[in-house]
Amino acid sequence: MHEFALAQAVVAEVEKIVEKGYRVEKLRIYLGELQSVDREVFEQYVSMMLREVQENVDVEYVDEEAEFSCRVCGYKWSLSELELDEDEREAIHFLPEAVYSYVKCPRCSSRDYAIERGRGVRISIEYSE
Ligand SMILES: [Zn+2]
Repeated sequence: MHEFALAQAVVAEVEKIVEKGYRVEKLRIYLGELQSVDREVFEQYVSMMLREVQENVDVEYVDEEAEFSCRVCGYKWSLSELELDEDEREAIHFLPEAVYSYVKCPRCSSRDYAIERGRGVRISIEYSE
């Protein structure tokens, strides 16, 4: 369900460009590390829906690492820098909000930080006339 809605949102962006008379050459889909998407299901929906919009779109899936920035000291870090055990990692993937109970700033230990990247799905589209 979640994957279906996400795929719809992605393909809707492609459709907007196609409707303006452009040809979409490449679609890059960045999947955030903290996003709990069933990748296989999602990819199936995307390719199924894309075919309805335009043939032969080159799709690339990119894993995007989560990135945090501390509101107190300004430090930026990624999930791979932290020493989380397996259980914590699983919990974070399952429920992104849980990140605040496991992760704190590696420099000043504050829990007041922003998730800059890796939370959702974003896309970039290359197209031509
Ligand atoms: Zn800090």
